[in-house]
Amino acid sequence: MLCTNPKHRLRAWQGGVETIPRSMFQLARMMTQDFFAEGELVGVLTTQPLDRPLDYKAPEGGCWLGAFVEVPLGPRRVLGVVWGAGRGDFDLARVRSVARVLDAAPMRAEMREFLGRVADYTLTPMPAMLRLATRAPGLGDDPAMRRVYRLSRVPEKLTEARARVVEVMEAYGGAAFTLGELAAEAGVSTSVIKGLVKIGAVIEQEAPRDTPYPRLDPDLGGKSLSDDQALAAATLKAGVAGGGYGTTLLKGVTGSGKTEVYLEAVAECLRQGRQALVLLPEIALTAEFLTRVEARFGMRPGEWHSGVTQTERRRLWRMAGQGDVQLVVGARSALYLPFRDLGLIVVDEEHDTSYKQEDGVLYNARDMAVLRASLTSAQVVLASATPSLESWVNAETGKYDRLNLTARFGAAVMPRLAALDMREADLPGGQWISPHLAQAVSARVAKGEQALLFLNRRGYAPVTLCRACGHQIGCDHCDARMVEHRFLKRLVCHQCGETKPMPAACPSCGVEGRLAPVGPGVERLAEEAATLFPQARLAVLSSDLFGSARALKERIEAIARGEADIIIGTQLVAKGHNFPLLTLVGVIDADLGLQGSDLRAAERTFQLMRQVAGRAGRAEVPGEALLQTYQPEHPVIRAILSGDEEDFWRAEAEGRRAAGVPPFGRMAGIVLSGPDAAAVFDLGNHLARNAAPLRRIGADVYGPAPAPIARIRGRHRVRLLVKADRAAPLQAALAEWVAPIKLPANLRISIDIDPQTFY
Ligand code: ADP
Ligand code: ZN
Repeated sequence: MLCTNPKHRLRAWQGGVETIPRSMFQLARMMTQDFFAEGELVGVLTTQPLDRPLDYKAPEGGCWLGAFVEVPLGPRRVLGVVWGAGRGDFDLARVRSVARVLDAAPMRAEMREFLGRVADYTLTPMPAMLRLATRAPGLGDDPAMRRVYRLSRVPEKLTEARARVVEVMEAYGGAAFTLGELAAEAGVSTSVIKGLVKIGAVIEQEAPRDTPYPRLDPDLGGKSLSDDQALAAATLKAGVAGGGYGTTLLKGVTGSGKTEVYLEAVAECLRQGRQALVLLPEIALTAEFLTRVEARFGMRPGEWHSGVTQTERRRLWRMAGQGDVQLVVGARSALYLPFRDLGLIVVDEEHDTSYKQEDGVLYNARDMAVLRASLTSAQVVLASATPSLESWVNAETGKYDRLNLTARFGAAVMPRLAALDMREADLPGGQWISPHLAQAVSARVAKGEQALLFLNRRGYAPVTLCRACGHQIGCDHCDARMVEHRFLKRLVCHQCGETKPMPAACPSCGVEGRLAPVGPGVERLAEEAATLFPQARLAVLSSDLFGSARALKERIEAIARGEADIIIGTQLVAKGHNFPLLTLVGVIDADLGLQGSDLRAAERTFQLMRQVAGRAGRAEVPGEALLQTYQPEHPVIRAILSGDEEDFWRAEAEGRRAAGVPPFGRMAGIVLSGPDAAAVFDLGNHLARNAAPLRRIGADVYGPAPAPIARIRGRHRVRLLVKADRAAPLQAALAEWVAPIKLPANLRISIDIDPQTFY
């Protein structure tokens, strides 16, 4: 079959992109006039907050379009990319030269277009996009040898400072650090590290920087697939082999083998000589995943997330651009790596809310993955047991393909689901585990199986109340209550992270000894479980209880081996971990997510409950999930129990269509914030009154109203909501709307296209 993708044909002809000699590329670039000779004017986009590329003269030796460069700006040198020819509208005599061309593969045209499209979609200035795309430290450094430090053995007695160094080195799993990086990370002076070198605990060595990643072998260790799996894998592989763009929703219950199936698509991508990217929603999941990749392909892939050392991130960024890393596993920002030839993007647990970045550039990595793939003729696989409504609708309308894995692999069957009516349980205050659930837990534990008690609330108690005056302890900077964390022995604001010790007396009335916790968090639930099940070994899994991703990973592995009988956890446990001995899931408060006015409350509850329930019975023993609820007849709870997912999505989609909300209409959330409430409201009113550009496209403007969290970090927050037709040019209208606003220095406007949360 003749392939219509010219890129792919080139590859077939050349026998793999890697084999094309540099000079061929250079020749091709010369011919398309992508090269600027010395002294020619080039426009350089920098990471500085300026509204356009600046003119510079190409340096000695010239430079390529897309080259990463350092340019003088005022007294400084800043990072930039040659974005095109210069405009020439600046006094030529004063135009300065590019200071230096960095030794990195130039940014490809498709990447420049991608950044531009994301900027347009999210209304983000280009310099901020460039910052996202260059988040590799030391880009300007020379790629020569460098001195690195590795842990060799942990000494017996350690000073506190030395212990911190060892801790950091262990936390990164034996990775190499540069001296400066290690000192900064551990918060010690470099002499502490030198001291460790002297006693032989740390080794110092010269290592080449930025070496290529080891080659993966796509033909090594595939599992033999079930019929369902084989069919899905073949379809995905054909898509990858075709070399064009396409998006497929891979829907399959937890444990159905989605990962096995999409790894086959990754294998095909590697065979084609193209690069693959797998996005995961949670760092804690990567360790388990990397082990699987290593088993399948023989080597570890590149890893990109906040738990990776700076040195390693720099290497990965460069190798992505050079084509010397075949597979990258990472968090959402891996999408902005400068891949040389990306052929496949997998978004695992595609419904996960963490794909939406909620500060800085407000983008949804799932949607932007589809955009990037369409620009680079790549395939996208969106994998989930409980897809987002957006993806489900896109599959219904044929915009995406859809593949289903309906059965769990092997002997495992879906857990039995049942509701426990809490109105009948009639529990006394301070208790949350119903007798029925307690019995079920005891029975499982007695058989040597594991039970999970799920409560999506970190800390000990969400509210601390003064029984003398009724005051609830709040954060000084936010419109939020402080959450007691007994493990940390502090009150914590979940909005801004501010902490303070638990006061002895009420901060409002001054009465001592009357402060009482109200409501449960996982820590308090653990206390109740310890009383109810004195013989059982308990494990609490909550993101705040672990100092490092590594500590968390070790705990999870220990639990998977059976070193706990009862797991008490937040949504951290809902995300893809394998606990083979787990057979019972008890959801403490299935109603928790249904209370908000959020458009996605039902969808989120549905997804979370199905995910959590899916943790039970992954191996041979059938599982059971019990949902404690005060409203067993609620349509969402009924849908969860009935197991008819398609029915739920159809009903949910109908409701959204009728209301004209996403994915059938478009929304933008506008949050104005500032230290002075009145000024923020004035701005909101001004915007609402002067919304002609929005009215012209038929959009509705709601607000201004205080945001659901009306104050964060001392800033008052006011919200407007814009609702438009699906086809309306929303971004252009929004840009025109806010353009005339001259913002005082302390006021901020943040525009969130397709908002996922309303706070
Ligand atoms: P999902 O991603 O849908 O949750 P996984 O791919 O993680 O499912 O599969 C669940 C478990 O079943 C894993 O331990 C996996 O290795 C195993 N498994 C799935 N398919 C196969 C297969 N064809 N052969 C052997 N083991 C399989
Ligand atoms: Zn706060």
